[in-house]
Amino acid sequence: MDCKSFEKLIPDFIAERMDYPSLKRFLAHREKCAECREELEIRFLVSEGIQRLEDGNAFDLQAELEQHLLDSKKKIRFNDGFLSLGLALEVTAVCLLAGILVWILL
Ligand SMILES: [Zn+2]
Repeated sequence: MDCKSFEKLIPDFIAERMDYPSLKRFLAHREKCAECREELEIRFLVSEGIQRLEDGNAFDLQAELEQHLLDSKKKIRFNDGFLSLGLALEVTAVCLLAGILVWILL
């Protein structure tokens, strides 16, 4: 992902409207690009800050961005775990099938 597409995805990230592959690429780009990290921070603070001012809540937005990022990473870990579980099931199914074939043929 380049910086331009990262920037385009920031509103989706903030609104939690991202699908899993984009979210993964988004966070990967954030890890290695200091410029975009900063951009995300600013955009998050601005959008959440405006919301908060309207609500009249006191805020600790820095912590909230951290939380937001943490949640996203958790989501990715969950998805990755799910994918490897799917793979494991697939391997098991293939082995089982092979076993049955061998059993029938012998
Ligand atoms: Zn970038």
